[in-house]
Amino acid sequence: MQKPVLLTVDDDPDVLRAIERDLKKHYEEKYRVLRADSGKAALDLLGRLQRRNESVALLLVDHRMPQMNGVEMLQEAVKLYPHAKRTLLTAYADTDAAIKAINDVHLHHYLLKPWDPPEQQLFPVLDDLLNDWYANFHPPFDGIRVLGTRWSPQSYDIRNFLARNQVPYQWLDADAANRDQEVDSLMKSLPPEEIKLPLVLFPDGTTVSEPETQDLAERLGLRTRAGLEFYDLAIVGGGPAGLAAAVYGASEGLKTIMVEREAPGGQAGLSSRIENYLGFPSGLTGGDLTRRAVAQARRFGVEIVSPREATALRVDGPYRFLRLNNGTELSCHAMLLATGVQWRKLDVPGIDRLQGAGVYYGGTATEAISCRDEDVYIIGGANSAGQAAMYFSTYAKRVVMLVRGDSLAATMSQYLIEQVQNTNNIQVEYNSRVTEVHGENHLESVSIVCDQTGDTSRVPASSLFVFIGAEPRTSWLDGTIERNERGFILTGPDLLKSGKRPKGWTLERDPGLLETNVPGVFAVGDVRYGSVKRVASGVGEGSVAIQFVHQYLSNVS
Ligand SMILES: Cc1cc2nc3c(=O)[nH]c(=O)nc-3n(C[C@H](O)[C@H](O)[C@H](O)COP(=O)(O)OP(=O)(O)OC[C@H]3O[C@@H](n4cnc5c(N)ncnc54)[C@H](O)[C@@H]3O)c2cc1C
Repeated sequence: MQKPVLLTVDDDPDVLRAIERDLKKHYEEKYRVLRADSGKAALDLLGRLQRRNESVALLLVDHRMPQMNGVEMLQEAVKLYPHAKRTLLTAYADTDAAIKAINDVHLHHYLLKPWDPPEQQLFPVLDDLLNDWYANFHPPFDGIRVLGTRWSPQSYDIRNFLARNQVPYQWLDADAANRDQEVDSLMKSLPPEEIKLPLVLFPDGTTVSEPETQDLAERLGLRTRAGLEFYDLAIVGGGPAGLAAAVYGASEGLKTIMVEREAPGGQAGLSSRIENYLGFPSGLTGGDLTRRAVAQARRFGVEIVSPREATALRVDGPYRFLRLNNGTELSCHAMLLATGVQWRKLDVPGIDRLQGAGVYYGGTATEAISCRDEDVYIIGGANSAGQAAMYFSTYAKRVVMLVRGDSLAATMSQYLIEQVQNTNNIQVEYNSRVTEVHGENHLESVSIVCDQTGDTSRVPASSLFVFIGAEPRTSWLDGTIERNERGFILTGPDLLKSGKRPKGWTLERDPGLLETNVPGVFAVGDVRYGSVKRVASGVGEGSVAIQFVHQYLSNVS
């Protein structure tokens, strides 16, 4: 964190230098002393400091300056830094102006020039003001800040992207400017043409308006392109299965790249508490698991390229090629598909228009705090919905779970059912379905039908979280990789039809256990037909697959 600023302003260069020298001598250990030679220059500087989220403790301003006098300057400065202590430097003849300023700009003090000796005339006054300022000082957040509006889908995307990539950020709600002084001061410091929301502010004072996540990733130094043209092993998907394969592959000496479309962690990264993963008796969040796994993968030298989507796969002799959505292609000897499953969309009127503006698929951490003291609706009765309900119950006034069936027993783990039942502010509505969502710019209400009575009710709601299962998105593998009718990738024995090997298979052996119909291309985790949809089984498959990769590579010429 930068030290808080003491800013002195005077148009007379000799006086400016003298006061700067005295301030530095006495305060440099704890404060940063800056100077400006006019009111305009001082305001420009304060605007830049505000955009870098730096603190200003004191404004020590000469009154008699051309163009803009000291009181006029302080009148503007107070909009940017209302808590900075304001002191006017005056000549004896200007005492009246200084006294008037006590009312006009809530001046904290005025000092008469000259202030010699400073030990008697200057420091005691400023010490007192600065002690007072420091007592109420909260160090500002010194990371990335996002200024946007709660109901904007673009703002949601950016927050979600930062959260899923484990980038700490501060959210500033532009609609709260009238009750949040920090937001108000920031907005006043921005040139009007820069206020295109969402706006991302970096600690160095630079800003980006309405950024694409891809641009943001590059700005944050995330790797979004492959560094090499050829790898021993390319992994598509950075969920638990892909990450486990990456750790084992790289730790066993394979030059490994992992390409991830959104952010490492996959579905597990969205989990608010995984309680059944071995070795974590009190559970851990998906974010924690991801952070540890990514650190481990990087330590072994895995190249993680994210966000970047794989869009096509082709085979040429012993080489497998992966096309990426930036138009580039990389090649490898062995490939591992770990693309998991994605949320199934709810198909009711109004839903697409309100996605990201009150309607969300998965994603709890980003929105939870915004839902404080509100009613939250959750659709679904599986573990993911139960975990989300538990998580929201600590923030929301009431969580309503809308469940299609008449019990949770068939879809949710017993430990979670008990937690849900024992939480006072969670209400489970069985035999219930959402039939329509309503709202102008954001979700305002939902229509719910009770399948037992046939009655439909329309209830006010500002947040609806949808957890209605997931499906693989594997159409990009058309023509190369065999899948079942629901898109799950077939491997090993599932590829043999009446004992016959898959079409185009030329090797003298059957496809291996986790191998697809293309030799050297493996599939693991939720995307694989027949897999158990759990973190531990994805991790297990990803780790075991590396053994098969080694066997395959030992025969590749
Ligand atoms: C909210 C929630 C809570 C859960 N809680 C638990 C729990 O408590 N315990 C438990 O055992 N399991 C839990 N699960 C299930 C568990 O998370 C999954 O079984 C596990 O994440 C599957 O891992 P995976 O690596 O196979 O796939 P995923 O986790 O789905 O990861 C696949 C990754 O591939 C990426 N991808 C997809 N297509 C492409 C492409 N073309 N190019 C590049 N990247 C691509 C995706 O963006 C994604 O990051 C939960 C799931 C959810 C959603």
